[in-house]
Amino acid sequence: MNNRKVIQEALEVLPGGVNSPVRAFKAVGGEPIALVKGRGCKVWDADGNEYIDFLASWGPLILGHAHPKVVKAVSEEVRKGLSFGLTNPHEVRLAHLVVEMVPTVEKVRFVSSGTEATMSAVRLARGYTGRKLVVKFDGCYHGHYDSLLVSAGSGVATFGIPGTPGIPEEIAKLTLVVPYNDEGAVKEVFDKYGEDIACVIVEPVAGNMGVVPPKKGFLKFLRDITREKGALLIFDEVITGFRLSKGGAQELYGVEPDITCLGKVLGGGMPVGAYGGSREIMSKVAPEGPIYQAGTLSGNPVAMVAGVETLKELRDKEPYEELDSKMRTLEEGVSGLLKEKGIPHRINRVGSMMTVFFTESEVVDFESAKSSDTELFGRFFRSLLNNGVLIPPSQFEAWFVSTAHEEEHIQEALERIEKALGEL
Ligand SMILES: *Cc1c(COP(=O)(O)O)cnc(C)c1O
Repeated sequence: MNNRKVIQEALEVLPGGVNSPVRAFKAVGGEPIALVKGRGCKVWDADGNEYIDFLASWGPLILGHAHPKVVKAVSEEVRKGLSFGLTNPHEVRLAHLVVEMVPTVEKVRFVSSGTEATMSAVRLARGYTGRKLVVKFDGCYHGHYDSLLVSAGSGVATFGIPGTPGIPEEIAKLTLVVPYNDEGAVKEVFDKYGEDIACVIVEPVAGNMGVVPPKKGFLKFLRDITREKGALLIFDEVITGFRLSKGGAQELYGVEPDITCLGKVLGGGMPVGAYGGSREIMSKVAPEGPIYQAGTLSGNPVAMVAGVETLKELRDKEPYEELDSKMRTLEEGVSGLLKEKGIPHRINRVGSMMTVFFTESEVVDFESAKSSDTELFGRFFRSLLNNGVLIPPSQFEAWFVSTAHEEEHIQEALERIEKALGEL
């Protein structure tokens, strides 16, 4: 089946032809593609076209596609059976790795997606504090859980409005939405509702409005105000965990959340999420404590070994400087090419994640991210795709490099991008 046929048949039986909306390319226009193979830093579509891949399956593939150690461990495990539904040794191995690597996690519970991780973390925070309200930041994405799929109303700090039909207003109202990097707005909601706020959840480096780094002191401020007001601080490190450093953003910025959500890299390409924190907080999770959360396939052995091999490789090789330097080369290269063409842009980058915004203004929150010329981004995306470079099909996402991107691949990508810009 070629791309067109896959997509046509998909449209008959999947809503919008996809299982996750952004795959339909609505934000960039043009025909979606179907991918059939990945090796290292490259992927191939159903027509046989090759792409240098900066999508990296939206972040998990920090070791590139089909890393030999991961593939070997998974293949061996598959032969022993796919799921047991009782404890298996690989969950314990992965849990020990997480506890060893992530500074504030002493105990961890595995789930099967990032959404489940944030949903369970919020339940834990509410159960632990006995409070209802959740503070989130406009433009941060924490999966599609009702309480977190909420957007900002008008005003600086507002009660959330449902991010989609199907979420009752009553639920959205329990979420307060404030602009990212805005300490004043956070202070305001705590002044007004402090006694009722269970938690603040934040992407310590935002990745889902495009990459937006925290302003200096912002995370520390969140730590201090939550501690002072008796709320919990949740870091959603589903993207940043094991990507920005061995211990994620909390290690990089030296700020300690109460609960950490993990996903993406944690599963090395398999569906794995997790939430964890101190022994004291995690002791409230069933069956140790009263706060219920469960999963038939949680801790699935095949998924767990993919995570184990991925984390072991990261722990032992610590490729973070190398990843940072490769992404810097790409950043400088792309910026140079755009300058030559006279295209106004801003690039936000933290380590191996970055976003190119087509705007003149600094991007520090969702409002400024939205100043990017998304029509130009759409053309940019399609032109790159036609020239064998795959980036996320939306302005408000992060590009990723993996350890499989060698300098030569970055150079090759830059040549392809130069050609693409020539055709823009
Ligand atoms: C991807 C993502 C999620 C959701 O993870 P899923 O596995 O897609 O459910 C949550 N939080 C952040 C920060 C993410 O990037």
